Amino acid sequence: MKYRNRVRSRISNLKDPKNPALRRNVLCGAIEPGLIARMTAEEMASDELKQLRSAMTQEAIREHQMAKTGGTVTDLFQCGKCKKKNCTYNQVQTRSADEPMTTFVLCNECGNRWKARLAKRSLGTAQLSLAGLQL
Ligand SMILES: [Zn+2]
Repeated sequence: MKYRNRVRSRISNLKDPKNPALRRNVLCGAIEPGLIARMTAEEMASDELKQLRSAMTQEAIREHQMAKTGGTVTDLFQCGKCKKKNCTYNQVQTRSADEPMTTFVLCNECGNRWKARLAKRSLGTAQLSLAGLQL
């Protein structure tokens, strides 16, 4: 990263109203000015951002697992990018069992990935074959 960009990112992190802890730590000397120059964006991030990041990481892990375990090839979904209907989907129970499952869809043509929400019954018997799949 260029030095100027680094400085700009420090300043924006210090000015971030969502990150009062960082500013406070710098002002009271808990974080030395020399240290903040070496901190990563990760380390400067506010707690809120950190939580968001870790949630995103978990989702990425899940999608990675899905890529490994495969999925079911379907023409139920149309890819928003290439408009083809050659997709693989996988369903994941995200929170409670009452909520609809999150359906991860992967376009086999262009690799586009997205999330869809589907009622269980709309996938019909395909759903049954996924019942034993653990993610
Ligand atoms: Zn596609």
